[in-house]
Order: sequence, then C-alpha cells, then structure tokens
Amino acid sequence: MSANHQQEQSRPPAPDFVEKAPLEGYFAPGRPSLIGLSRQGLMDSLGAIGVPAAQRKMRAQQLWHWLYVRGARDFAEMTNVAKEMRAELARHFTLDRPEIAAEQVSADGTRKWLLRLSPAEATTRPHEIECVYIPEADRGTLCISSQVGCTLNCAFCHTGTQRLVRNLTAGEIVGQVMIARDRLGDWADRDTPTGGRMITNIVVMGMGEPLYNFEAVRDALLVVSDNEGIGISKRRVTLSTSGVVPNIARAGEEIGVMLAISLHAVTDALRDQLVPLNRKYPIAELLAACRDYPGLSNARRITFEYVMLKDINDSLDDAKALVRLLKGIPAKINLIPFNPWPGSPFECSDWARIERFSEYIFNAGYSSPVRTPRGRDIFAACGQLKSETEKLSARERAALRAMALTD
Ligand code: SAH
Ligand code: SF4
Repeated sequence: MSANHQQEQSRPPAPDFVEKAPLEGYFAPGRPSLIGLSRQGLMDSLGAIGVPAAQRKMRAQQLWHWLYVRGARDFAEMTNVAKEMRAELARHFTLDRPEIAAEQVSADGTRKWLLRLSPAEATTRPHEIECVYIPEADRGTLCISSQVGCTLNCAFCHTGTQRLVRNLTAGEIVGQVMIARDRLGDWADRDTPTGGRMITNIVVMGMGEPLYNFEAVRDALLVVSDNEGIGISKRRVTLSTSGVVPNIARAGEEIGVMLAISLHAVTDALRDQLVPLNRKYPIAELLAACRDYPGLSNARRITFEYVMLKDINDSLDDAKALVRLLKGIPAKINLIPFNPWPGSPFECSDWARIERFSEYIFNAGYSSPVRTPRGRDIFAACGQLKSETEKLSARERAALRAMALTD
C-alpha cells in the first residue's frame, strides 16, 4: 500500500454538510448601546431622539471623540456636552460593551476574556465569546471574534464543532477592542507602561468566519481603523477567512484590511476534508480571488495559514506543492502547530517535520514563521476558542489542560 493510500485511510470522515445556518437571533436591549456606530449611525441616533438636523454633525463628532478616543463609559464624562443633552442621551442610550464574565492571564502574559453578550431571547442564556490579547516584544495583538460559534465546520477546529451560531453585531465586535483597551488602560489619554499603545494590531482570527458576517465585520473594522478614533491602521488589521470567495473581493473594496487565508492543504481532495467549504470554492478559485485582491505588493502580502497536521499535510512534497501554488502571489506563509482538543482526530506534526517544511519554503523565498502557541495554559491558542455555550465536561477540561501543558 502506498504512503498516500495509507493517508487516505487514516483521514477522518468528512462531515456531509458545508455550512450551518446562523439560526440564533439577537435580542436588542431596551436602551441600545452607541458602541459600534459609525458617524452616520450616531447622527441617525441623534435624529431619532429629536436633535435638530443642524446640530447632529457636531454632536456626532463630539460623541465619536468621547467613545473612540477617550473610551468614555458614562455620558457624565462628556464635559463639553451640555448637561441636558447628556441626560437626554442617557435616557435613550448606553455606552455598554459586552460584559466581562471572566478574565484569565497566562504565564506568558497572554490575556483572555470571556465575554457575555445579549441572549437570543430575554429569557434564554446569554451567548458567550472569547477575545485574546497577545503581547510580543514589538507589538501587541488583539484577536477578536466575529460569530458565536462558526458557520463552517473545519475538521481540525474546535470552534467548528459548536452547533450554535449567531452573528455578532458591529457593536459587539468593536466592543471587544474597547474592553481590551479598558482592561489594559490603553486609551489615548492614559499612560501605558511602555509609553506606546498596548494594542497595535488586530487579527480577526477568533471564533467565527468573518466573511459570513460581512456587513457587521466591515462596519466594525471601519470604526476600529478610523484614524480620528481608535486609530489602528488598516495595515495592522488582518482578517482571516477560510475562503468565502465571493466576499474576498468585497473585503478588498469595502474594508481594505490585510487578508489571511486558511489554506491548510495543497490539493482539493485533502482540502475538501479539512476545510469542507472547499467543496463550494475550490483552491483554484480561492487563489484567483487572492491574485485579484487590491493593493498587493511585497510590502502588503497575503498571509497563508497552514496548520501542521501529523502525516496529513506536512510532507516535503506538500511544501513543494505549496510553493508552486502560491507562485506570483505576494505571500507570507504562517505555519501553525496544530493545537489539539479533546476528541480531535489529528495530532500535531513532529517538530523535525515542521522545521523541514519551514526550511523548504524559506529557501524558496518565503518568510515562514512558525507561530508559537501562546496562552496554552488558558486555552487561548488557535482553534481552542470555544465558549462556555457548550460547556466542556470536567474530564475534557483536564484532558485539554494536560495536552496544552505537556506538548
Ligand atoms: N474562521 C476564520 C478565522 C478564525 S480561525 C478562518 O478559519 O480563517 C484562525 C486560524 O486558526 C485559522 O487559520 C484556523 O484554520 C486555525 N485553526 C483552527 N483550529 C486550529 C487548531 N486546532 N490548531 C491550530 N490552528 C487552528
Ligand atoms: Fe470556522 Fe475558521 Fe474554525 Fe473553520 S477554522 S470552523 S472557518 S473558525
């Protein structure tokens, strides 16, 4: 039996569906939060409470500054807004962010927040998502979620096993950045330990497939990258997709942030199994969309993520095929050691194999950092973000902890 044949045999069966429907709804609170609104959204909200048209632009500008530069949590802080106006705003709106249900700090400084969102209905359990801050020597990266659960079901991803799916609102997405700034003391008018900003980069690589929640993700990222507000430049914001081809061009035109593609396999046969969405949008179509992504250059490359799965996609032939496939695309390749979870049908590649793979693509001219798993002791690493919505049993937790700490 050939090695390839053996690989075929050892692959787990692919699920028979490609997408789940985001069935769960969003129960809007009585007094909506202004967090996440664009300037136009703020003007419309002011209009809705009777602020005269001639004042709306100026008032929206003031609110924008208090919300996104100063991180105000209470209308009372807005000293340049008339007292009556502040009271009127507080009667109709809040500045609520998602509620922090838990905060964990890893031995390596990684922080994870479990956030509680509005439930599907007033009477049901709240939804929960996770958001992770990863400090490094030269940057601080915040990893944010775009959905509760995920529309898709990649074979190696823990989030994909979650049945419940709900799209986050733009406010809930921006809210994650605001909470991280609140907790890290990282607003523009506050001193940070380094003197610089703590959050310098954002990656949309938490729970969910961002391009299946396009409008909310777009609106949120435009707020986050506005240079008169939170001000994290689009070059420092990366959206990761498993390959929702029609929305890649839209992301380029309407959002303009950096793109990461979860490739993980070099043949359609294997990618169909690992990333079932490939059956809808195969590799050739995905790479064509990447080639057309606007603004690419050697300084603005697409990141291709490649999870290292033992004996599945980690051979030297795979590395060679990867280099051939990406020819002509300004690309970086990000090798991610597989993070196991209880019941996961894969193992992480041996270190020697990861190094051999990395060396080949490096010699072919690609920067090929191997992403160091961070925050493993708090289950914050890639693919381990699975909210409490589906609680793990105590045994599963123990298993996860053991795996995270031993390999
Ligand atoms: N849904 C989007 C973004 C979130 S996933 C996407 O798939 O691109 C962020 C990255 O982590 C993706 O590349 C994903 O494939 C990878 N990932 C998921 N589960 C993983 C695991 N168990 N170990 C390592 N990487 C994983
Ligand atoms: Fe969803 Fe990304 Fe996980 Fe796939 S890897 S199931 S797209 S979160």
